[in-house]
Amino acid sequence: MIRILTVEDERAISNLIRMSLEKAGYSCTCAYDGAEAAELLEHSRFDLILLDIMLPEIDGFELMEYIRPTEIPVIFITAKARVEDKVKGLRLGAEDYIVKPFDTAELLARVDVVLRRYHKDQAVFEAGGLVIDTCSMQVKKDGKEIKLTKKEYDLLLLFVQNPGRALYRDTIYEHVWGGEYQFGSKTVDLHVQRLRRKTGWDGILKAVNKVGYRLEV
Ligand code: CA
Repeated sequence: MIRILTVEDERAISNLIRMSLEKAGYSCTCAYDGAEAAELLEHSRFDLILLDIMLPEIDGFELMEYIRPTEIPVIFITAKARVEDKVKGLRLGAEDYIVKPFDTAELLARVDVVLRRYHKDQAVFEAGGLVIDTCSMQVKKDGKEIKLTKKEYDLLLLFVQNPGRALYRDTIYEHVWGGEYQFGSKTVDLHVQRLRRKTGWDGILKAVNKVGYRLEV
């Protein structure tokens, strides 16, 4: 499910946004000030943030500086209709800007566009008898969930997104572990073995001599 964080100090507006988003099938968490939003961002994953500018203590612009490194897309929601505020918000990296009072249909349309731009729309892959929901990060086989570690999941997704392609061990390592591959390291091989065992992919996740692995689907 797509998770949206709404940062808005006016409860009535916050409630209205939450109701609209939930009706449209999104999960919505509300923060009522900047500190609460920062706290939520520390511990939870969000796909999009709706951010009010006029907030007590830490305002939306300041909070934007904190949000930017997370690369979560932001739509500013504000009563400030002044052009310079729009420009400032967009310069700070916001994806869009919506001025209060707004129509909920307009809000949902803008949310939709930004999520699509970020490919956050519910993406489900099917490969080798598995159904992989990249939104809930659930992997199922014959309707039953397969429990994978984060690394196993990342590895699985890499193969699913590159079907039929031989992937080098160093490419796999850099993609999944994010560091430099040490020649002779068995990390990739051990994880591939575990992934095969859990998914039943022995026959299709093939070793490629002197290279790495290839998913044959
Ligand atoms: Ca406000």
